[in-house]
Amino acid sequence: MTGGERRPAIIIAATPTSNGDLHVGHLAGPYLAGDIYARYLRANGRPVTYTTCTDDSQSYVVTTAHRRQVTPAELVSRSTAAIQRTLEATGISMAPLPPIDEKYRRTVLGFLGALRALGRFRLRTVRLPYAQHAGTFLYDGLVSGVCPHCLANSSGGGCENCGHPNNYDELLEPVSSLDPADPVTHRDATILVLPLEEYRERLTAYFAEHAERWRPHARQLVRELLARPLPDVPVTVPGSWGIAAPFPETPGQVLYPWVEAMPASMYSTWQAAGAPAEATDRLWRRENDAELVYFHGFDNVYHWGLMDLVFLMAHGDRYVTPAANVCNEFYDLDGEKFSTSRNHLVWAADLVAEVPRDLVRFYLALTGPECQRTNFDRAALTGVIERRLVRPWNALSDALSLALSGVDIRSPLPVTVAGQARAELLRQRFRACYELADYSPARAAETVLSNLGRMRAAAEALDRGEHGGTIGDLLLEIRTLLAGAAPILADAAAEAADDGVDLRFDRTQPGAVPAFLLPLLPSGARPAADRSAELATVAGGAA
Ligand SMILES: [Zn+2]
Ligand SMILES: [Zn+2]
Repeated sequence: MTGGERRPAIIIAATPTSNGDLHVGHLAGPYLAGDIYARYLRANGRPVTYTTCTDDSQSYVVTTAHRRQVTPAELVSRSTAAIQRTLEATGISMAPLPPIDEKYRRTVLGFLGALRALGRFRLRTVRLPYAQHAGTFLYDGLVSGVCPHCLANSSGGGCENCGHPNNYDELLEPVSSLDPADPVTHRDATILVLPLEEYRERLTAYFAEHAERWRPHARQLVRELLARPLPDVPVTVPGSWGIAAPFPETPGQVLYPWVEAMPASMYSTWQAAGAPAEATDRLWRRENDAELVYFHGFDNVYHWGLMDLVFLMAHGDRYVTPAANVCNEFYDLDGEKFSTSRNHLVWAADLVAEVPRDLVRFYLALTGPECQRTNFDRAALTGVIERRLVRPWNALSDALSLALSGVDIRSPLPVTVAGQARAELLRQRFRACYELADYSPARAAETVLSNLGRMRAAAEALDRGEHGGTIGDLLLEIRTLLAGAAPILADAAAEAADDGVDLRFDRTQPGAVPAFLLPLLPSGARPAADRSAELATVAGGAA
């Protein structure tokens, strides 16, 4: 093992907008994928911070609050509580959502104030959509229209369909989201911007080094973005919701919501570390040498991939840059994108209230939209998971239990060299699924499923005295399978760990392995039985 393998990791899931709870599409996207990666790294002995932060300043808070007839502040407070409950209920091993308070505001202003002092911002006069009756400028969720790049319906700021940004007056046929009857014209406004084009050379070098780790669709978008003139990112906007911009050159303006993402992530990292008495950005500084990994959707490739990267680069060499952006596609429900505004969704919290969360996590991992859009199917969740996971897993558990009966398990059971080699093959298969180069929880889940029947047959053969291997070999293989499944099946893994099963992933294959029972998975209908009494019986029988 090299020292590099103990590098601290900072894993950031896209900051959820606090305008509603998380639905299954959100969960199947960044939050579960990031959680599985975080659990994998912890099993390898890596110090891991997995965190996110609510994105309270987004204009979508204003539009949703308007639709629901509540104040934006009420919506933020309710949504934050709901998101927190859902993250816990689904077993996302994250630090609690940090409070958006004065310390948060100071962190954001410190990050941007430093860039302003370094002379990175430019004052530009731009043309913005303007709602005539309301007398307000429109940006992001406050305006909808037609994407100038792909002609799909789009909000301001960026297009969910093609992923390209649209800024200022670029959105075609603009309509006010709050009042579609309010005539929209364009007016000049003088704002601060960060010109991405000034960072082209560094961006090109960065992507030359990192493109291989991007999934194909996101990589295509990055290539398209770099093939065009890069936009000036607004730093301030003439709006009313968000953090007031304290800069004398832009009186009365607020910070453009998207420029909060990097300092927000630093702040939540600092909070996750227990709010130590040090600068909130310390863990992100280059000398801390953290491995930084983002998990986000395709619709955030421009923001988390390009724009936020430039905000880090604009600080010179002060901060680490991401080792990888793991991007998911959209998850569909009945063949159409999950949508809160159209109420076309399944709430994540409702689903885990009905189905044991390990089974939900496994199904979402197995079918998650890694490289293209995939479909969530409630009936398949129950049917496929029962047939392909729960029954064969529990049958393997029973077969192992039978194979162990009558075996003296007071000391660890010897493993042959051939048994070590087989366990190592399996471990390397899982590694290939969980390492960033080709990260795929779907392939890890499939690897679990494809081994259950084979191992059960081996256990039954051993029980009949037919198998060529040893019980120690079988135990090591099953333990490797359990360790490979552990980042997904969080509750089963916790139960095994409580029983003392060593699920660390960074060990060389041992010459002997202590006996254990494979925890049963709950079926949709019945909770998993407590098996500690059974192992005691097995142990008693052997003694
Ligand atoms: Zn588009
Ligand atoms: Zn093969």
